This record gives sequence, structure tokens and C-alpha cells, in this order.
Amino acid sequence: MAKAGSVHCPSENEPDVACCFFCVLEGWEPDANQFTEHSKCSPNCGFLTMKKDFTELTVADYCLMEKERLKVYLRKVCHKKMA
Ligand SMILES: [Zn+2]
Repeated sequence: MAKAGSVHCPSENEPDVACCFFCVLEGWEPDANQFTEHSKCSPNCGFLTMKKDFTELTVADYCLMEKERLKVYLRKVCHKKMA
């Protein structure tokens, strides 16, 4: 799971949950193919679009992903303000 970018993100109600370190998509079924489910449920995840193994990510890669995440976030905030 870690190679697919998942990290343990437990909550009080769900102590065994794993989620994507980048888009925070969660709810993997134990027997599901994580890459397939991740692509289907979160096709614009910055980690998926890098098409790299989690262990091959560089700081530059992460900064690029973070820049894209901030662009999406700012776009959402601006659209809410304009509405
Ligand atoms: Zn993701």
C-alpha cells in the first residue's frame, strides 16, 4: 500500500484507515487494486499524474504536486467567493 502512496490515517471511529498521502482519498477495500481504485475515484490526484513510484519522488516532484494542489484550492476558493 505504501508504494501506491497510501499512509495510515486513523480516526477515532476508523482506526485502520489508509489514505492517499496527497489527495487524502480513503476507503480502500483490502482486496482492491489501489492504483485502479485511485484512478477511478480521484483521477486528478497530483501523485497519480506524476506516474512515479512513491519511493522515486523527489523534493522537486513534491513541490510541483503542491503547486498544482494550491492552484486547484485557489480556484475553488475564488469560485465560492464569486458565487
Ligand atoms: Zn491521491
